Amino acid sequence: MAHPPDYRGRFAPSPTGPLHMGSLLAALASYLDARCAGGAWLLRMEDIDPPREMPGAADRILRSLEAHGLCWDESVLFQSTRRDAYEEALRVLEEAGRVFACCCSRATLGPGGSCLGRCKPRAGQPISLRIRLRGDTGFDDQILGLQPPVNTHSDLVLRRKDGLYAYALAVVVDDAWQGINHVVRGSDLLLQTFAQLEIFRELAATAPQYAHLPLVRDTQGTKLSKQTGARAIDDAFAVDNLRSALRLLQQDSADMPASSTGELLDLAVNNWRPRVLSALAEKSLVYP
Ligand SMILES: [Zn+2]
Repeated sequence: MAHPPDYRGRFAPSPTGPLHMGSLLAALASYLDARCAGGAWLLRMEDIDPPREMPGAADRILRSLEAHGLCWDESVLFQSTRRDAYEEALRVLEEAGRVFACCCSRATLGPGGSCLGRCKPRAGQPISLRIRLRGDTGFDDQILGLQPPVNTHSDLVLRRKDGLYAYALAVVVDDAWQGINHVVRGSDLLLQTFAQLEIFRELAATAPQYAHLPLVRDTQGTKLSKQTGARAIDDAFAVDNLRSALRLLQQDSADMPASSTGELLDLAVNNWRPRVLSALAEKSLVYP
């Protein structure tokens, strides 16, 4: 991949649990892509959903990344400090007429969790704020190739009934604010990307280039995630963990001789070949 010299990438975990192989893989791929381009790699903690967070997880993630030699540039951005910026962005979207109030419950929502404007909130009733999506935005994914516009959600929550800002809004506001121009992340966020691109456009911000990685599944076919109880990676085996992740990413560096995380990462940066993932685009990576 050819990158401009001012590459700015990031890894943005949510502190809902420790790193597992799927999240290590996303961290590693975004790190390698940034370092290979001589760019910056930032870390953002997506701590905007306290009910789902696990006490101590943010620290543990940072320690795990350090143990694996994945050292970030600049200071960590905690999204919990950014509520004013999300509120301001929401105001801009409201002024553009893209936001509406919704009082739907889980049971009354339509397909894909859409409200479709079918509810009529009464005064004083708890509401979420949603964006009306046009479904008119496609993009060229660096791994998956051209993604034509698709209207998968006709609307998406920006601020929840409990007053918490949704991922889709926060991620766009912070990618724009931090000047992130390359995002390498899991394909579970592919459908979100179409909505995020509309939000970037409405906020008059430049969207990053995206590269969506194949998902890591276990031998039963279950996606590795905190929700499905994927086991935490053991920092005591950092070199082995990196080798496993590189093997999943089909990188030749996985089996090159190296005795430390630093040596292995240098080899991995110098031999980074993200294009091999294009051939796997629709498949998943299996981690036992
Ligand atoms: Zn509704």
